Amino acid sequence: MLSVEAARQQMLDTIDVLQTEQREILECSGYVLAEDLYASDNIPPFDNSAMDGFAVISSDVKAASKENPIVLSVVETIAAGFAPKKKVSSGSAARIMTGAMMPDGANAVVMQEVTEFDGDTVQIFESVDKSENVRFTGESVKVKDCVMSNGKILHPPEISMMASLNCASVEVYRKPKVAIVSTGDELMPIGETLKPGKIRDSNRYGLYAQVQNAGGIPIDMGIAPDDADKTEQIFLKSLSQADALITSGGVSVGEHDVVRNVLTKLGKMHFWRVAMKPGKPQVYGFIDDKPIFGLPGNPVSSLVVFELFVRPALLKMAGHTELLRPTFEAVLTTDVTNSDGRVNYMRAIISKENGEYVAKTTGPQGSGILHSLVLANGLITIPSGVTLSAGERIEAQFLN
Ligand code: AMP
Ligand code: MG
Repeated sequence: MLSVEAARQQMLDTIDVLQTEQREILECSGYVLAEDLYASDNIPPFDNSAMDGFAVISSDVKAASKENPIVLSVVETIAAGFAPKKKVSSGSAARIMTGAMMPDGANAVVMQEVTEFDGDTVQIFESVDKSENVRFTGESVKVKDCVMSNGKILHPPEISMMASLNCASVEVYRKPKVAIVSTGDELMPIGETLKPGKIRDSNRYGLYAQVQNAGGIPIDMGIAPDDADKTEQIFLKSLSQADALITSGGVSVGEHDVVRNVLTKLGKMHFWRVAMKPGKPQVYGFIDDKPIFGLPGNPVSSLVVFELFVRPALLKMAGHTELLRPTFEAVLTTDVTNSDGRVNYMRAIISKENGEYVAKTTGPQGSGILHSLVLANGLITIPSGVTLSAGERIEAQFLN
């Protein structure tokens, strides 16, 4: 059996980044930049005031104090958005608002709170240094600076920066379109009355949400029955509209597990027995250069295998380089035993107590017990064949 790390590395080594596309700024959130972005302008584009106050020549107000205010004549008021009309010369000042353009002659701004203005003249009660309260042309970004590099994730600050640079669209990596198919004769969608022997299809909905969370574009392809021809048709239809395919169920050794045979017929597959619990049987391969992720049917297994394998793969396709969730140490609050020969990703509630993370498992951990994940906010990694006592440290990671 493959270790989780080996299987994941083998998979990631074969996943390619998708092509790039030009996207408009308002549709860029969460995408990964696929070009280097250079500044076409200085930011800020002109010297301006960082305060509401009075633009002065600093040497004029050097001796200013509460007891000995300096009196200056006020030549005009400069509002944000308007160019100054007058020059400030020795003995004068201009009233200025935050963001307004500095007038010629002035080299500092005295904040309003230490002044008194009567409409014509202003009393200044404090000195200012040269350049104080002035934001200079290009102090944030200079023309021709490389402001963001290829690979940068476009979060809200990056989107704001694009706008500052008058950049209406950029080249980004495409997000993967991911088709999702549940398989199994027992499955029924939401809304239909359950008949004897049938259960609700839960995986398709959960996987759909996971694809969204991983920044992919999910495509719901419904339920495939345990029939090879029909399953093949649904898989082919899925691949005609998607960059990748996720299936759930039908990949173990049961008589009705048709997914294996269909996938093998259509492409090149690796049938992996990964040494992990939940989620031992998994399929990974390609049909026409499109990655196929065959997840186990048990609800906890499919969601956990998605987290540990499919999520990093989809992130890589979308141009990300940080693919795995960060792990950290947590202190167990209960004893746990893993007598299995496979590493166990137990579902846990992780919280911070006295400055360190503590982890408590979420009750019964069977791979069909979805509630173990609903109650959890993270996973803890219990190596195979160990018994750990409360107080011992284990590797943990948050989900979402
Ligand atoms: P399989 O791998 O197809 O044998 O499925 C393993 C177990 O997971 C069986 O108990 C299935 O009924 C269950 N299962 C498979 N697919 C789903 C699904 N989409 N939603 C909920 N349970 C499922
Ligand atoms: Mg099945």
